[in-house]
Amino acid sequence: MRVLLVEDDLQLGESLEAALRLEQYAVDWLHSGEPVRAALGATPYDLLVLDLGLPGVPGLQILRQLRADKHTLPVLLLTARNTLEDKVEGLDAGADDYLTKPFEMDEMFARIRSLLRRHTGNRASYLEVAGISLDPVERHVLVDGESQDLTSREFAILEILMRRAGRFVSRQRLEEGIYSWGEEVGSNTVEVYISRLRKRFGSEVIETMRGVGYRIRA
Ligand code: CA
Repeated sequence: MRVLLVEDDLQLGESLEAALRLEQYAVDWLHSGEPVRAALGATPYDLLVLDLGLPGVPGLQILRQLRADKHTLPVLLLTARNTLEDKVEGLDAGADDYLTKPFEMDEMFARIRSLLRRHTGNRASYLEVAGISLDPVERHVLVDGESQDLTSREFAILEILMRRAGRFVSRQRLEEGIYSWGEEVGSNTVEVYISRLRKRFGSEVIETMRGVGYRIRA
């Protein structure tokens, strides 16, 4: 799962970014609202965590623009103001939920899981492919009822492949799913994770097509 975080408060932004990474999300952090639209156009995100009080373009305006652009990704608002009016305005503008500062990280994670679950609510929240079942929100992988202990990047790659089961996914798309901006991408990293997944789930489960990418058999 990849999160776009928009927060101008450096201290809060840093701790949110670190906490989200520890919780195994890929995170990109923007300090202001101007680049949000371009970022959303360039990268497939699963969630936007948006501060309302931003310098320049206010969070609410970003949110309205986003919904006007028909972006459906879930949005969690962060607000320093705790008035009913602000909450109503935020929800009316298309936010899915909000947190009033200060908040506990555990509460934020619970809200995020609930948002992601609701967002995938019209599908089964479990993905089931090739005998593997994966819960993207609770981050469990089961095979024959047995829990599998995957690293966060193995999990991220498996999830992307399972969401597009039967179709080929390019290496670049897989890299985008596991690296935040500015992180060094090793030239054969995706291959390494694919080979680990094959070792675990059987080599026939993931197919490679040279120059095209990888797919998990539906
Ligand atoms: Ca702020």
